[in-house]
Amino acid sequence: MSAASAMSATSGVGHVWLVGAGPGDPGLITVAGLAALRRAEVVLYDRLAPPQLLEACDQTAVLIDAGKAAGDHAMTQEQINAVLVEHARAGRRVVRLKGGDPFVFGRGSEELLALAAVGIAATVVPGVSSAIGGLAAAGVPVTHRGVASSFAVITGHEDPTKAEAAVHWERLATAVDTLVVLMGVGRLDAIVAALIAGGRSGDTPAALVQEATTADQRSVEAPLARIAQTAREAGIKAPALLVVGEVVRLRARLAGATSPLARRRVLVTRTRGQASTLVELLRAEGAVPVVLPAIELERRADPAAVWSSLARLRAGGYAWAVFTSANAAEVYLDLIAECGADARAFAGCRLCAIGPATARALAARGLRADLVAEQAAGEGVVAALRAQGIAGASVLLPRAEGGPDALPAGLREAGASVDELPLYLSAPPATAPPKALALVRAGKIDAVTFTSSSTVRNLAALLGGDLSPLRGATIACIGPMTAQAAAEAGLPPQVVAEEQSVAGLVAALRAQLASGPRPEVTP
Ligand code: SAH
Repeated sequence: MSAASAMSATSGVGHVWLVGAGPGDPGLITVAGLAALRRAEVVLYDRLAPPQLLEACDQTAVLIDAGKAAGDHAMTQEQINAVLVEHARAGRRVVRLKGGDPFVFGRGSEELLALAAVGIAATVVPGVSSAIGGLAAAGVPVTHRGVASSFAVITGHEDPTKAEAAVHWERLATAVDTLVVLMGVGRLDAIVAALIAGGRSGDTPAALVQEATTADQRSVEAPLARIAQTAREAGIKAPALLVVGEVVRLRARLAGATSPLARRRVLVTRTRGQASTLVELLRAEGAVPVVLPAIELERRADPAAVWSSLARLRAGGYAWAVFTSANAAEVYLDLIAECGADARAFAGCRLCAIGPATARALAARGLRADLVAEQAAGEGVVAALRAQGIAGASVLLPRAEGGPDALPAGLREAGASVDELPLYLSAPPATAPPKALALVRAGKIDAVTFTSSSTVRNLAALLGGDLSPLRGATIACIGPMTAQAAAEAGLPPQVVAEEQSVAGLVAALRAQLASGPRPEVTP
């Protein structure tokens, strides 16, 4: 880059990205929207933009809540425009993050005009509007062949009885097949009356969907003439969508075809480092993972012991290195990396992994296990290694402090000499993320996953011994030992994975939830 162009890049006017955040599920932002958010220096966000999206921002980004920023009052449109202009003029990358699509009742186009008026360039990143995507999540397609071939999206903000109203309810009432009303919860009676007066039958199916696409999504359904009363009885509140039309009848049928995990809050209690696979699998089926790590790895390795194991390893002094967990593999490889070594240290040594997850952890560091014990327990490893003939062999065993004796004892009995190397301790964390804790305490968790007995005990400790807010949740355990620990803690599991893996756990949980009541189906 020439000096002149480098200059213009830093001293030039900034840029504004007007980004649609989608209806509520943070996964429903677009790829372009997320990229803009990650690069932003300033983010001005709306109340309806999912707060979880802000976690994607750079730590140094300035985050401005347009719903609160002005001394606990929502900022006015003029203030918002002024802030956008100010930061862009200072040469910053600014993201204006709005719920749904920025041009659907989002005043996005007004902001764009304000920027254009002062010569600031902007990029519009469209979003999934609640009007279409929010209804889809509730099992209501805005069109359906043979049922609805047109739809209208209408603001319910205006008083329909006003003479000079901009919305022509009487004409809209019968002009299109599906009517979607945003911002209408406070005026349901007047809207319904206007539609019926305009000729729409009071028997037309109608529904309200609150907080669509989030874990708090709720829907109610009734004929148009009764929908306002039904919504009141159910306590439906904004943000909610009103949908009127024959497509509402498809809701019950379509809900049966969605994943039973959709929008269920699932507690994940693994360590932060290990939670990601489970979190991804849950998200892939539309679940809302709540991560509350109930276990933490505390490094306990003696540096001198690590150095001497490494020296012996490099000198070809071990016939086998045995890894009994993915953590052991990761921590040992981290430790030798800190000593300046890498996978080549294992050149003269064969590798044994206790199961597929441990083998994968080795593979992620460029090491292929020579032996993966089929039975993921100490005896399985001993039997597998015995079959390889380990009498007289030297074995390196890097693992957790206080691991069971059966494995080293069994290997010694088979004639091997074993160097145990304690690396870390699994300990309960000192603190827990407050948002996750609050959701647990409020009884908002639909399912709990336990992947080891220590996660059960530690979660109880994190909750001050009170597991009662989780009694109504579905309890899912990865295997029989964990299940026993959960039962002893007063949370008898409904789900014990057949296949003892994270994928097996998710599959078992899905099957269990499918057999229970489906909140989406019952109005
Ligand atoms: N630009 C947004 C709409 C902004 S107007 C979009 O494209 O979705 C705000 C109204 O949108 C709310 O009053 C409500 O009627 C609707 N809305 C937005 N998000 C919603 C959600 N998750 N569930 C139900 N309604 C929602």
